[in-house]
Amino acid sequence: MLKLYNTLTRDKQEFRPIVPGQVRIYVCGMTVYDYCHLGHARVMVVFDVVTRWLRAAGLDVTYVRNITDIDDKIIKRAAENKEPLDELTARFIQAMNEDAAALGVLKPDFEPRATEYIPQMQEIIRLLEQKGLAYVAPDGDVNYSVRDFPGYGKLSGKSLEDLHAGERVEVTLAKRDPLDFVLWKRAKPGEPAWPSPWGQGRPGWHIECSAMSSTLLGRHFDIHGGGQDLQFPHHENEIAQSEGAFDENKGNPFVNYWMHNGFVRVDDEKMSKSLGNFFTVREILARYDAEVVRFFILRAHYRSPLNYSDHHLDDARQALTRLYTALKDHAVAAGPVDWNEPHAARFREAMEDDFNTSEAVAVLFDLANEVNRSGSRPAAVLLKSLAATLGLLQRKPMDFLQGRQVIVVPHAQLHVTGYPPKVEIGLSSEKIDQLIADRIAARKAKNYVEADRIRKELLDASIALEDTPKGTIWRRS
Ligand SMILES: [Zn+2]
Repeated sequence: MLKLYNTLTRDKQEFRPIVPGQVRIYVCGMTVYDYCHLGHARVMVVFDVVTRWLRAAGLDVTYVRNITDIDDKIIKRAAENKEPLDELTARFIQAMNEDAAALGVLKPDFEPRATEYIPQMQEIIRLLEQKGLAYVAPDGDVNYSVRDFPGYGKLSGKSLEDLHAGERVEVTLAKRDPLDFVLWKRAKPGEPAWPSPWGQGRPGWHIECSAMSSTLLGRHFDIHGGGQDLQFPHHENEIAQSEGAFDENKGNPFVNYWMHNGFVRVDDEKMSKSLGNFFTVREILARYDAEVVRFFILRAHYRSPLNYSDHHLDDARQALTRLYTALKDHAVAAGPVDWNEPHAARFREAMEDDFNTSEAVAVLFDLANEVNRSGSRPAAVLLKSLAATLGLLQRKPMDFLQGRQVIVVPHAQLHVTGYPPKVEIGLSSEKIDQLIADRIAARKAKNYVEADRIRKELLDASIALEDTPKGTIWRRS
């Protein structure tokens, strides 16, 4: 039985889907005005594994991850770039798809864009107005009135007073309470705007998720996920909107389980642009194999902070190399798993304990040790099959060991060739092949001094050679 930590109740609970056998899950996705950073990568990878696992457990999953394509930051960036808004967002949606594909993230079932749900947002705002939960402020914006929603603060576990004291909130005359938030913004000159009962304007940020989730998953669904930074105010506001507007949610949570992944830190510091320790996914993929980055993310429990450092990434590369090395002499494919097998049972127990991927990965190492010790083919098949539920170890081992980057997820059409970048640290594959050919030629000519010199040159460059009856194989060590 799967147990997961529910932010709303602050404890681990048995997961019971609303409709037996089905899971509906919504995750807040990217605001597309820039490249994805490691925090985005973590959200995508974590919930990719959540949905892979639920599917592996035989559940019928509908997974929605939205795209915020209208927002203050987008408008600002488009103006700075002198670029039409839709071109800017199209460019970064494409970049996000490329990053996701490189990281082995499967496509969600739906990737709705906020601008496609304006009528649904307006309908919810109308319902809120009707119920006395929204008001038109003197500046023309439509705001949510948090004081009129009794459950406000329940996701954060705080009262309105705590929230006032603890959060930095902007005090404006237009708001009845500083925690009130904008549902509909009156248009400013030159900004994109849609007609509405409250005049030309555009949606505030929070309302889009209530509109998209209720349209695609219904007004009451199973799991809502996102990064921890969204817990307040974004998710608190989603609750206020969806439970405030929809009668069927009166007194009931609109989402049964709230899941939040932890923060990403860099060298034990908060990741931020001002600290200069801010990395985009593509900057990281120029230095590390994408599967190493995925492995690094999954090796930590999703609720723990994830600390990025070169040291940790190098360590992840070495660890993943150990797993692939165990598979290198076994041409095996992932297959159905016998969950009664002791390793498989431990793996499942770990995953069912609030997606404890860190413990699940430890089981993969135990299996790799067994493959190394006994050469057991069934153990190699099991290793590959269990790893598949995490989206790991599915490349040909030599592709990984020789540093060949392969996209294993058929994904959006990738227009950019050469992405993700080929990660080759040290000698290029071509140079290595050339040196090996030279070494064979030297040996044929009985020039053993030269052959040894080449072997040493390769060893110094951390290239391990193995002479087999079929020829010489090399890998990066
Ligand atoms: Zn959201």
